[in-house]
Amino acid sequence: MESAILVGLITPEINKSQSEEYLDELAFLAKTAGAKPVVRFTQKIPMPDHKTFLGKGKIQEVSHYSKENNVNLIIFDDDLTPTQIRNVERIFEKQCKILDRSNLILDIFAKRAKTAQARTQVELAQYQYLLPRLTRMWTHLERQKGGIGMRGPGETQIETDRRIIKDKISHLKKQLIKIDKQASTRRKGREHLIRAALIGYTNAGKSTLMNLLSKSDVFAENKLFATLDTTVRKVVIGNLPFLLTDTVGFIRKLPHQLVESFKSTLDEVREADFLIHIVDISNSNFEDHINTVNKTLLEIGVNDKPTLLVFNKIDAYSYIEKDNDDLTLKTEENLSLEDLKKTWMAKLNNSIFISAINKTNFNQFKDTIYSSIKDLHSVRYPYNNFLY
Ligand code: GDP
Ligand code: MG
Repeated sequence: MESAILVGLITPEINKSQSEEYLDELAFLAKTAGAKPVVRFTQKIPMPDHKTFLGKGKIQEVSHYSKENNVNLIIFDDDLTPTQIRNVERIFEKQCKILDRSNLILDIFAKRAKTAQARTQVELAQYQYLLPRLTRMWTHLERQKGGIGMRGPGETQIETDRRIIKDKISHLKKQLIKIDKQASTRRKGREHLIRAALIGYTNAGKSTLMNLLSKSDVFAENKLFATLDTTVRKVVIGNLPFLLTDTVGFIRKLPHQLVESFKSTLDEVREADFLIHIVDISNSNFEDHINTVNKTLLEIGVNDKPTLLVFNKIDAYSYIEKDNDDLTLKTEENLSLEDLKKTWMAKLNNSIFISAINKTNFNQFKDTIYSSIKDLHSVRYPYNNFLY
């Protein structure tokens, strides 16, 4: 396994503990991509250095560490500009690989994409990520060398690259339109059933719940983006059948291009009648995660769907109680269901606490889904409620 150095910043917007949490997540992403994070470098700085991301001294420090310990993979938590990439690459040894969070996410998606649709979407996202970087590099070179008749071979190469990439992008877009049409026909051909979608931050337990509810065998593991492709299953609760979709997890700082190119995968979410939003309550960042998911939903134009908020993994939950003025550490390692029902989370509309692993509160979870789906069903298909 390749060893990796992680690099992040502490800024006026990102305090020390947030920065650590971001790097925890970056470490998780790195592991998922098959690297082994061995050390972290962070710097407190008002904003990223526009030439080298970290300040001059700090980046030298990282470079020394990399040489002395023979670690040749450097992963930055934020996207680097072309200028930063070029300068940073100059500072590190030639054999060093410089990646940022987006590279990592794109790489994981690329490795795990199975269907033609997912593969095409990732490829499109990769090229779209690359294109503006080439453009800015091109502008830079143009300014440096300037003028007609002054074009060096490097510049011509970049122009050629840009054209090739643009051609690829338009080809992939056409392919996607074709695939989308097929997928939409397939969706229309489905039975007249209410459609529910499991959504949530990556690693929240969506696939685990899909398996439990449908008794199917969807790949679930403790990695980010274990599943990339959406899976649809017919599920029956009580005597009520409906369609359940397991979707790709959302994640913070998801490259903009990826959200764009995943829009058609997210059609399943957009076209669902009912959303089951899974939250990993054992993750100390779960409130951030909820916000990220809600923001992504808005980005794809979903804002008013009936939603059940499911706080999962209560078996692994321990927390600091946020009272009005002080932070009281709860002494019990795990809280009881009764304790949880007293928290702010329980006061939200349509929320429920469960543990998918221990099946805690699982029957109530199923009952809640049942009654929501049943309501939707009787509005949608008023003449077809012989089912119950
Ligand atoms: P997804 O990315 O949302 O599909 O998440 P997965 O279903 O793949 O689950 C991610 C990890 O969380 C797996 O290792 C699961 O075994 C684990 N997990 C799921 N539900 C629970 C739970 O209730 N408690 C605990 N402790 N772990 C869980
Ligand atoms: Mg999953």
